Amino acid sequence: MSTETAPGTEGSGTGTDGKETLRSDLKPIWCPGCGDYAVTAGLEQALTELGFESHEVVFVSGIGCSSRLPYFFRTYGFHTIHGRATAVAVGVKMANPDLHVIVVGGDGDFFSIGTNHFVHAARRNINLTVVCMDNHIYGLTKGQLSPTSHREFVTASSPYGSVEAPISPLTMALASGATFVAQSYSGKIKHMRETLIAAQRHDGFSFVNIRSPCVTFNKVDTFKAYKTRIAITEEDAKATLADACHYLMSRPDEEVPLGTFYQVQKPTYDGGWRDLSERTTEKHGIPTLEEILEGFA
Ligand code: SF4
Repeated sequence: MSTETAPGTEGSGTGTDGKETLRSDLKPIWCPGCGDYAVTAGLEQALTELGFESHEVVFVSGIGCSSRLPYFFRTYGFHTIHGRATAVAVGVKMANPDLHVIVVGGDGDFFSIGTNHFVHAARRNINLTVVCMDNHIYGLTKGQLSPTSHREFVTASSPYGSVEAPISPLTMALASGATFVAQSYSGKIKHMRETLIAAQRHDGFSFVNIRSPCVTFNKVDTFKAYKTRIAITEEDAKATLADACHYLMSRPDEEVPLGTFYQVQKPTYDGGWRDLSERTTEKHGIPTLEEILEGFA
C-alpha cells in the first residue's frame, strides 16, 4: 500500500460556513491516498455550492472501488450492477425528471462492459452528469488492465506488458454526442469543483473524466507523475465539435489536458419525451399521468 496522500482524504461533512454538507457519516474504506477521496470532496463542495438538498440528488453507480461513492452522501443512492449504472440512471431520470442524477464509476465500468450504455445515453443527450474516476486499472479486483490502460502497461493480467491501444474517454464522449465534455484531476480539487458545478448546470448529457490515481495498483499514473503532465486549458470550451476533437487529438501523448473542451445546447431526450407526451395526450384527449394520479388523491 502506498504512502502517497491525496487531497480530501480526511473527509468533511461540514462546509466553510459551518453548516452540514451532504456527506454521510460513513467513512470510505479506500486505500489511504486513493484519488477517489478527492473526487468525493470535490463532489461534496460542488453540491454545497449548488445548494442542492438531500432529496433532490441521486448518485447511481456500478461496480468497482469508485462505485462505493453513493454510500458517502446523504442523498438517494443506487449501487447497481457492473457496467449498467448509466442505463439505470436513464430510468431514474425518466421516472423523475426533477432529480439531479449523477452517475459515478470507474474507467472499467464505463468503458468496458458499460460502453454501450454510455454511448446511447450521450447520443440521446439525456440530462445526466457522468463522472468517471479514471485510474487506468481495475483496482477492486487487484490490478488488471482496463480500457484506458496504456500500451505496454504491466499489470496482473498483462505481466509482459499490454499490446492494446487505450480508449480515450474524452473523444469517445465527443463522438457519441455528449453536449458537455470536460476533464479534471484528483490533485486539483478547486478545478474539479468548478468543473462539476458547470457540468451539473448544463442542460443535457455532461461528462467529466477525472484522473484519479489508484495508488495501490498503478505505479505509473501516480500523483507524482501527473505533476509534470497536467496542463490546464484556460480558454473556454471550443466553438465546434471539430475544434474540440482537433484540440484533444493534437495534444502530445504525455500531456493530460484539464478543462471543459466542448459545451453546446441541444434538445434533451427527457425534454423530448415530455413534449411528445403532452402533444399526444392533447391530440387524443387522454388524461396526463398527473391527472390520472390526481384521480386517486
Ligand atoms: Fe483506490 Fe486503487 Fe485502493 Fe481501489 S485499489 S481503493 S482504486 S487505491
